[in-house]
Amino acid sequence: MNTQRNGKADKNILVVGNWKMNPLSIDEAKKIVASTKKILSKLQRTAVVACPPAVFLGTFTKKASLGKTNSTFSPGSLAFGVQNIHEAESGSYTGEMSAKMAVNTGAVYTIVGHSERRKMGETSERIAKKAVKALEAGLLPIICVGEEARNDEGSYWAFIKEQVKASCAGIEKAGAQKMIIAYEPVWAIGAKEAMTPDLICEIVIFIRKVLADIYGSEIAMKVPVLYGGSVNFQNGADIITKGQVDGLLVGRESVSSVGFVDLLKAVDGAGAVA
Ligand code: PEP
Repeated sequence: MNTQRNGKADKNILVVGNWKMNPLSIDEAKKIVASTKKILSKLQRTAVVACPPAVFLGTFTKKASLGKTNSTFSPGSLAFGVQNIHEAESGSYTGEMSAKMAVNTGAVYTIVGHSERRKMGETSERIAKKAVKALEAGLLPIICVGEEARNDEGSYWAFIKEQVKASCAGIEKAGAQKMIIAYEPVWAIGAKEAMTPDLICEIVIFIRKVLADIYGSEIAMKVPVLYGGSVNFQNGADIITKGQVDGLLVGRESVSSVGFVDLLKAVDGAGAVA
């Protein structure tokens, strides 16, 4: 990854849009993609990944420059991802989609372990299997982790550590160099305000420490760590610079054509920490 950390203004940024179950029609989906494409050529250091509902994916990937964006995400590129995959290759899993299918339809990334999936009963063990399957198929997994709540005793530290370790189980060193971690505190998702950049920075350092214990510090420093939870065009730049993240996982703002474009402009122009 062509990213320099420690507040340097020239680090590359990855912004992932998780559209969830929005919008309702392909025409609306096309508008979001069209407005994103318009801004791409102006982006100096930001790469974009759109994760529309899978039913819309093929419409966009046919025209997209497939395979352009990879773990060294290139500024001004737009790639597509899916929001979830099944851990099996194929078979009798009604309503599910495999990693191979996603790749064969042009996806480059997949989100796994989003808190909304975890709420449906997905365990970290299962999420790790999905991430392994994604890597086998050539999809880059964006592994979501994050505590549900915070308390004064600080038990969330142990929770996050355990979640990171369990969600990466079975991912070898080679795979770790292709994965992305998205830290999304559940209490900040769909909320009024994002987590403060200083608290985000603290967790990013902690996640890297956990990754270093598993993979060694060289690999840990290369794994992109994103933040997600109520990011918008007003707070995005600050989260990038002061939060020391490599990018953002964006929910609501990613399906607002105007808001998303403003967010991309803001993070692309975000300055260095003094
Ligand atoms: C999300 O669900 O991944 C998310 C970050 O949502 P929002 O940006 O709407 O809080």
